[in-house]
Amino acid sequence: MSKSPTKYIFVTGGVTSSLGKGIISASLGKLLTARGYSVTIQKLDPYINVDPGTMNPYEHGECFVTDDGAETDLDLGHYERFLNNSTSQANNVTTGRIYQTVIQKERKGDYLGKTVQIIPHITDEIKRRIQILGNTGKFDFVITEIGGTVGDIEALPYIEAVRQLKWELEDSALFIHLTLVPYLAAAGELKTKPTQHSVKTLLESGIQPDILVCRTEHPLGSDIRRKVARFCNVERDAVIESMDASTIYEVPLLMQKEGLDKVVLRKLGLADNTEVKLEQWCNFLEGLQNPEKEITIGLVGKYVELQDAYKSISEAIIHAGATNACKVKVEWIHAEEINDKNVAEKLTGLKGVLVAPGFGDRGMEGKISAIKYIRENNIPFLGICLGMQSAVIEYARNVLGHKDANSVEMNDATSAPVINLMEEQKEVTEKGGTMRLGAYKCQLTEGSNAYKVYQNTEISERHRHRFEFNNSYKADFEKSGMIATGINPKTNLVEIVEIPTHPWFVGVQFHPEYKSTVANPHPLFCGFIEACINNK
Ligand code: GLN
Repeated sequence: MSKSPTKYIFVTGGVTSSLGKGIISASLGKLLTARGYSVTIQKLDPYINVDPGTMNPYEHGECFVTDDGAETDLDLGHYERFLNNSTSQANNVTTGRIYQTVIQKERKGDYLGKTVQIIPHITDEIKRRIQILGNTGKFDFVITEIGGTVGDIEALPYIEAVRQLKWELEDSALFIHLTLVPYLAAAGELKTKPTQHSVKTLLESGIQPDILVCRTEHPLGSDIRRKVARFCNVERDAVIESMDASTIYEVPLLMQKEGLDKVVLRKLGLADNTEVKLEQWCNFLEGLQNPEKEITIGLVGKYVELQDAYKSISEAIIHAGATNACKVKVEWIHAEEINDKNVAEKLTGLKGVLVAPGFGDRGMEGKISAIKYIRENNIPFLGICLGMQSAVIEYARNVLGHKDANSVEMNDATSAPVINLMEEQKEVTEKGGTMRLGAYKCQLTEGSNAYKVYQNTEISERHRHRFEFNNSYKADFEKSGMIATGINPKTNLVEIVEIPTHPWFVGVQFHPEYKSTVANPHPLFCGFIEACINNK
């Protein structure tokens, strides 16, 4: 829109973690894009891993993958789902990445003669990383979410960097601080002291927040708003109430009601004369909140007690449900608890089953038992990455008769390695950032379920894996009824398998969930949910 310099919005959090900075950032981003501005959101993570790709989902939830192959924080998934634009390597920066760059420069001699220090070298590198996106000239706004909670030792260099940046950028930057206003049931009161203290902590680092977003379970009321404004030096209308919402997709509307976007524009000296176009969003919300029907599907995985591990999958199911005006309940089923004996009971009442991605052999045999039952009983199936590989192994064992078939990831001595290590992976020894990552093209077979839902013969989807369908078995599979309906045109890798005689049996080597957004619910998820609805 405007070609005035990019505006920077820094979002910090206080009092506790898990206040939902990602959702608030994404909601503000949504309101600004709904006014016609171009916006990108970046996350700074204060941990020392170079990226979250090497972390267990129990530590960090899902690892989100971008088109350009960055393994990132799951908040980037929210940014994409809300804003409907792609993020990239530059949208997630960790302390590990910052130090890696600075140390590499030091070794090259870039700082020759100097002592390399947190200030200015680390803070300069943080400032440079924040401005990479703005310097592309593509964005009116860069929203930078700083992970962690103010006062954390590891967040200090980030806080110092954005403090400096605010002075350099002058009127083109502002601070939003997210805090908690807890309700003390015994006193029957909301308490503002934790917010005051967390603002004080920020002030000690030289930052005065311009806007406070207060997470609360009860309406703030004008007294509380006035009190927070007075004691935290912010304007009265810059105290934004953020009540718990029934769905994260309601938050942009709640923020609009509170005037968050208006205050942001005013404080950045921008005119508030743009219309907020949220029609498509509201239609989506309408479908989500007023479903005409309800179904239950199963999700078989191994991190079912931690649903953040499958964040993008859950959200893609929500998008596809809303599109079909259907409430989709998900029953989370622990793969390790499934076996051939109990599988019928475990999957009763489910209209369809999704088998999740994963690594390592824990729960693998349970996934295979589930898929055998799904295949034999015509239950709609979507297998993602390891879920697709499990479907291939199951078919090899129970239809092709290779009793010992497996992925070499699970058993490298298998006599039928139907899932094999990719050629380009054979020399790889380091774990970080070395999988097949990011977007690759895929050619679809006309007439397949995949083709029907995408309505296109060429698609692009994101990957994160080391193993692949072993093409030396392809002819055998196809003769026996499992067909490769999606192929990488460059490398010939099998990206999709289907069983055409089954109502809906689709396994995909890629991760469709990363590309489902509110504006574009993913065709494969929509097709799968539709098949589940039609499964009488
Ligand atoms: N472990 C499998 C592989 O590396 C599948 C990965 C996944 O499900 N993301 O190929």
